[in-house]
Amino acid sequence: MNDTITLPTAPKTKRMPSKTLSENGVDFIDEDVLNGHLNVELGNDPVRLREIIDKSQSKTPLSLSETAFLLKTDRPELVEEIFTAARQLKRDVYGRRIVLFAPLYVGNRCINDCSYCSFRRSNPDATRRTLSEQELKHQVSSLLDEGHKRLIMVYGEHTNYDADYIAETVRQAYTVQKGLDSIRRININAAPLDKEGFKKVHDAGIGTYQIFMETYHHETYNKVHPTNTRKGDYLYRLDALNRAYEAGCDDVGIGALFGLYDWRFEVMGLVKHALFLQEKYGCGPHTISFPRLRPASGAETESEYAVNDYDFKRLVAILRLAVPYTGMILTAREPAELRKEILEFGVSQIDAGSKIEIGGYTEISSAQTMERGQFELGDHRSLDMVVGDLLEQGDIPSFCTACYRVGRTGEQFMEFAIPGFIEKFCTPNALLSLTEYLHDHACPETLKHGQKLIEKELETIENKVLRRKLIDWVDRIETSKERDFYL
Ligand code: SF4
Repeated sequence: MNDTITLPTAPKTKRMPSKTLSENGVDFIDEDVLNGHLNVELGNDPVRLREIIDKSQSKTPLSLSETAFLLKTDRPELVEEIFTAARQLKRDVYGRRIVLFAPLYVGNRCINDCSYCSFRRSNPDATRRTLSEQELKHQVSSLLDEGHKRLIMVYGEHTNYDADYIAETVRQAYTVQKGLDSIRRININAAPLDKEGFKKVHDAGIGTYQIFMETYHHETYNKVHPTNTRKGDYLYRLDALNRAYEAGCDDVGIGALFGLYDWRFEVMGLVKHALFLQEKYGCGPHTISFPRLRPASGAETESEYAVNDYDFKRLVAILRLAVPYTGMILTAREPAELRKEILEFGVSQIDAGSKIEIGGYTEISSAQTMERGQFELGDHRSLDMVVGDLLEQGDIPSFCTACYRVGRTGEQFMEFAIPGFIEKFCTPNALLSLTEYLHDHACPETLKHGQKLIEKELETIENKVLRRKLIDWVDRIETSKERDFYL
């Protein structure tokens, strides 16, 4: 198996990124402070609850004590108020569009030994593999055939996957053209880099660079990430997205693996991280992810901190209220029915038709091969099934990449706060990207439902000039080979 991608110049000795921290290289996770809030706040006071909900509905990020109050509120009728508020805020800030993407696992060599991951170095059952250049393009081509326009490329931590390599594989993926289709936005989930490395990857045209802390609890972090491994360095990882911002990356994504430690503490950690980035760089995270521990081959995934479905809904709704402007990603780790339900609590992005085995989009037809994947998937629906289900529940499937391509990223993205941004940009762009999907990739059933939704949505657009323009563009997509219209 050829697992090298030919880099333009003779490969230099590969090295791991330097351990230099950012200008703000401090451990800002003070557990006494986070636990202090969780201990002091009792929750369950309807008056205070409604004050906090009002603040969040005005799209103002919540403080740690307000977040702790929501986390401690467990009276069912008050939790229902939190759910209702999260639904409303999601509608107000994100409208009914749900952005779709696909994960593309590039290589699972890894020098770390994370207890919960089947790619861990001590897992003898893991099938180690790195896509060759041709195999990578083949995967991208298969994803384009499905109708995808947005990818997240995933790598283990290894000298083979240094910044040059990640940048080159991103460029390779962007070069793939299939008929009228090409990938329009590539996000990355990979190991922390130094500033030089983040700059290289940024210059390759990435969207968001995601790095999950997995757990913000120091003791648990050291337990699941052996200290003699690179990932065992808590501060270096916590500081990573500071370095990304200082290196010029526009969008960053944070996340925690729920089930490793107490879910309330992890929500506090995520909110603290978002507030820290906002304070130091004027821009909070672009996205937050909240994967739950899932079975994984050769890994330890049983935990006393496992999060049940009801508490999982609570943490999604509370994150929605705490960080109004941060996109929320719900992955196919979760079963389809639960995903359909949780979307309404604040989720703005989901993956669909996902294959997480290396080479999975051309080699894995049905059942998952656990030795080749990082964890067990919960949702095995195809992209077209997910699009169909979203249409059925009244959401607008979107493949939009406009903000990223017109430079509405990072701080500029904050203009998102401008009233009417959804109506002016998000919904129209969602309808245009959906029209493309329907005409180029959807099954007849999905096409029929999608066309009905688009017709209805176009009628509701008050701005006559905008409506005329959209009707014209939709018509041109339907009747010609013109593509890629966006605002
Ligand atoms: S979680 Fe990431 S760093 Fe840890 S073993 Fe798995 S692939 Fe490697």
